[in-house]
Amino acid sequence: MLYHALRSGVFGLSTAYALAQRDAFKNTSITLLERLDFPAPDAASIDSSRIIRPDYADPAYAALMAEAHPHWRGDFGAEGRYSEAGLCLVQDSGDESGDNAAHYYLIKALENVKSKLGLKVGRREEGGQVELLETPDDVARVTASMGGDCGRRGYVNWTSGWADAEAGMRYLRKSVESTGRVQFRTAKVTRLHYDKDRVETVELVGGEQLTADLVVLATGAWMQKLVDLRGIASATGQVLAYIDITQEEQDRLGGNPTLLCETNGMFIIPPRDRVLKVARHGYGYANPKTSPHPERPGETIKVSLPRTKQDDPNLNIAPEGDKACRDYLAKCIPSLATRPWTQTRICWYSDTPVGDWLISYHPTYRNLFVATGGSGHAYKFLPVIGERIVDLVMGEERDELGAELGKKWKWPAQRREEDQVWTDDWRGGVKGMILDEELAKVDGAVPRSRL
Ligand SMILES: Cc1cc2nc3c(=O)[nH]c(=O)nc-3n(C[C@H](O)[C@H](O)[C@H](O)COP(=O)(O)OP(=O)(O)OC[C@H]3O[C@@H](n4cnc5c(N)ncnc54)[C@H](O)[C@@H]3O)c2cc1C
Repeated sequence: MLYHALRSGVFGLSTAYALAQRDAFKNTSITLLERLDFPAPDAASIDSSRIIRPDYADPAYAALMAEAHPHWRGDFGAEGRYSEAGLCLVQDSGDESGDNAAHYYLIKALENVKSKLGLKVGRREEGGQVELLETPDDVARVTASMGGDCGRRGYVNWTSGWADAEAGMRYLRKSVESTGRVQFRTAKVTRLHYDKDRVETVELVGGEQLTADLVVLATGAWMQKLVDLRGIASATGQVLAYIDITQEEQDRLGGNPTLLCETNGMFIIPPRDRVLKVARHGYGYANPKTSPHPERPGETIKVSLPRTKQDDPNLNIAPEGDKACRDYLAKCIPSLATRPWTQTRICWYSDTPVGDWLISYHPTYRNLFVATGGSGHAYKFLPVIGERIVDLVMGEERDELGAELGKKWKWPAQRREEDQVWTDDWRGGVKGMILDEELAKVDGAVPRSRL
């Protein structure tokens, strides 16, 4: 009997579903372990909203989204789980030479949605799916109800949208439950016991040891507790802030496109249930801590580990992140400039060098498969990513895209020299911030770069 241990975020849950669907695994016992009762409130996959877009500079992810999008437009996204209100990608400043990373991303993404996905360029009222926004007035036109200064140029893709992230995860969880094939357990894994070339046992809090023919590890930003990913993937904390709005404001702002500024990584997803969210797709904070070496008992390593409200209920965002969210809100929606946050959150990415995920067998432990490194952009693939993961578990390439993705996601031949991975992927904010240092700063202090 085979035995699979997974975790319950986007990667773990979707893999469990795909395993449960395949004939090859019909005699396999599948167990899904999750440290908190589902839905884990601090998991990256659980939130009010996530952007669903094919707007990628890398055509492979645009193609994968073309696979996922019909699901969001169908049952998966029904009952309000998906809203197709568009995505307005803008630049606020910066040159247009093509050397500027934000500008490059925007131009490449536009090129891909036009040429690879065949979206029609033109005004929406004339049947266009992608509208070029060449002046600040064009940006103001599509963000009129926000009433502020939302950017200088960019484009809006009316075929993009956003999902109610928690509702999407609940929907998939129900689908997994309905297969009757997966055993769910709320149990924190404390460590994996490694033999020379395999995982011998999975130890749970309380000491229980599980054995498995295959262990699929999908613990998101918490991976470094269980496997050594130094120089391969690192946890980075991202800022989010929420405000309550009135019904009138909900009605006015609710149908807007998501606004994403490539210059600073700030974004505003349209409000749901009278809650509006401002956040930053940034380099994030590292939270370096000394921790037992996951593979060599008796040794320690220093790695960034998530710190969330589960660890410290009073944890709020650092002053620089607070200011970034506040300034962006005031600039784009001036009428909400002074509305206090009802909640803030630091949500943890697992960041890789160039933003490609890590979905691969471990090169040393032959019964260990890892699925992580979401790099802040994996949620949108929830309906289809499990199938692609299981293809790689099986060593199958179902099509050209699968072969290409398999190469992007494989265990890297070399680790980066620096243990902490600061991604080269496009991001806003400053590279190199340390969480404790930023939390200790007084309001408004400008963070130093550690590059
Ligand atoms: C602020 C923010 C905004 C984002 N915006 C977008 C977006 O707009 N669009 C998009 O597509 N993507 C977005 N993403 C990225 C997307 O949400 C992530 O890539 C994806 O959710 C990662 O899934 P995961 O399964 O790797 O991690 P997680 O969802 O974090 O799941 C890991 C799970 O493992 C569990 N776990 C950890 N350690 C243990 C243990 N020892 N034992 C048992 N269980 C354990 C955790 O409790 C958790 O449930 C965003 C992410 C963040 C943080």
